[in-house]
Amino acid sequence: MPIRRLKAQPLPEHFLEMLLNLTTNHATGSLYNGERQEVTSPFVDEPIGWVGVGTEADVDEAFRRARVAQKQWAAREIGERVAVLSRFHDLVYRNQDLLADVVQLETGKDRTAAFDEVLDVLNNARYYCNKAEALLSDTKRAGAFPLISKTVEQRVPKGIVGQISPWNYPLALGVSDAIAALIAGNGIVAKPDWQTPFSNLIALHFLIEAGLPRELFQIVTGSGRQVGAAISTQCDYLMFTGSTQTGKILGETVGERLVGYSAELGGKNAMLIAPDADIEKHANTIATACFSNSGQLCVSIERIYVPDAIFDRFIDAFRKATESITLGSGLNWDYEMGSLINQDQLDRVQAFVDDALSKGATLITGGKARPDVGPYHFAPTILTDLGPDTDLETQEVFGPVVYVQRVRDMDEAVELANSLDYGLNASVFGAPKTAWALARRIESGSVTINDGYASTWAAISTPLGGVKQSGLSRRHGAEGLTKYTEPKNISEQRIMPMRGPAQLPRRYYGTLLSTALNLGKKLRFLP
Ligand code: NAD
Repeated sequence: MPIRRLKAQPLPEHFLEMLLNLTTNHATGSLYNGERQEVTSPFVDEPIGWVGVGTEADVDEAFRRARVAQKQWAAREIGERVAVLSRFHDLVYRNQDLLADVVQLETGKDRTAAFDEVLDVLNNARYYCNKAEALLSDTKRAGAFPLISKTVEQRVPKGIVGQISPWNYPLALGVSDAIAALIAGNGIVAKPDWQTPFSNLIALHFLIEAGLPRELFQIVTGSGRQVGAAISTQCDYLMFTGSTQTGKILGETVGERLVGYSAELGGKNAMLIAPDADIEKHANTIATACFSNSGQLCVSIERIYVPDAIFDRFIDAFRKATESITLGSGLNWDYEMGSLINQDQLDRVQAFVDDALSKGATLITGGKARPDVGPYHFAPTILTDLGPDTDLETQEVFGPVVYVQRVRDMDEAVELANSLDYGLNASVFGAPKTAWALARRIESGSVTINDGYASTWAAISTPLGGVKQSGLSRRHGAEGLTKYTEPKNISEQRIMPMRGPAQLPRRYYGTLLSTALNLGKKLRFLP
């Protein structure tokens, strides 16, 4: 493939063709017979390519192909599977600029946010390649009784993992979770979002180049209601990232089928500023925590609680840091904040601001679209003094809008942070001792101290996810891989049966075993 870098214009024809050939829609023939969906770049509001509108028949075929390939893949040694993903890591490393180009082109995000996706893929690939043997190999466990029984825990792949992902981080969410699933011996049937299919497809291109069996990872492009729903009715495990609303719909389907489910959902992430926080030092980091990827980031901050005593000082420093953020377009490093994804998202963000202002909120900065920069750019926005029943107070915006609320003290801040049904990420700024104590009191899957979200997200050895309405299960860490397996207990009984020697009268059996269990507890010779 001769392409090294892309331009902010339609994808070169042979590049588009290469990506389309990787879809199941192409394999079934529906790509050229059926409907098409244009893919538009938010930078220029012009089509950059198109994909097929997948059907349930495409999904059926994807599962049929993936199931055949998965049997052979699961039979391979763990080391062989690791070798493929390790080569994939190296290909991603060598092609990082091209990958960032594709991500920027279809999302309209700034280059730093696009590179965060590349880094996330590298982080996951390295970690799971290094940990796979330890996490997946048969593990000897204590048997029911020492010497008499032998037990092994085997990790069996689930089969075919269904993956449904959103548009905001299409490369990371399209392939990082899949890396663990593949290493564990599974196949994948994936549906990326309409607006961002090419990041997932270019990742698949590099997986295949790294040696992944061609049919193991199927991508069907299409709508959520049709293709996404069909995936949820056939998969052996569902990995979903998206809104809480869709997460609940999918939860019903997989719940009915008693199939495992990982749901990475929405949030309304709080930040707490303690009185001993170094506000001036951290002002730019706080702005980054709110406005990275134009706020279209599940873990970014949308509400900030600040004690009365430092409120004015905080607003001043935060406003200055926010107003220094540069907006821009294009595949370069020259600006810090890119575009929103589309017109609907722009209207949604503006509606939140208008609702807040109509109910008496004070606008500190921003509050409006920036058509001078690009069709869907929106100024980073800070509001305070929210009136009653303001939508912004409790609902996820998923855009560059944050409100700051004055509180009496940190007890009130913790109470407000915990008052919503969401619990994805939170952030605390303060002296370490204060901040750690506050972090332990917050009801959230992650709490990031003196940073917004990046250090918890990048701490790949620790499980990450949401509580309450923000999700189920976790990505990252051991759990991020073992969730894609069924633990199987294989036990061998040796020397004599569990019920004792044949000569042992039945009436002594229960007494003997309960005595042994009791002694095992007292003398600690049983686990
Ligand atoms: P969404 O739920 O509308 O869509 C996500 C995916 O689900 C898309 O691929 C979509 O086509 C598909 N889908 C939609 N309806 C479906 C249905 N009925 N059946 C099956 N599939 C369906 O979410 P979105 O608006 O695209 O993404 C933004 C949301 O995602 C925000 O709430 C954000 O917080 C959340 N998110 C969470 C994380 C996380 O890790 N927790 C990461 C990124 C985004």
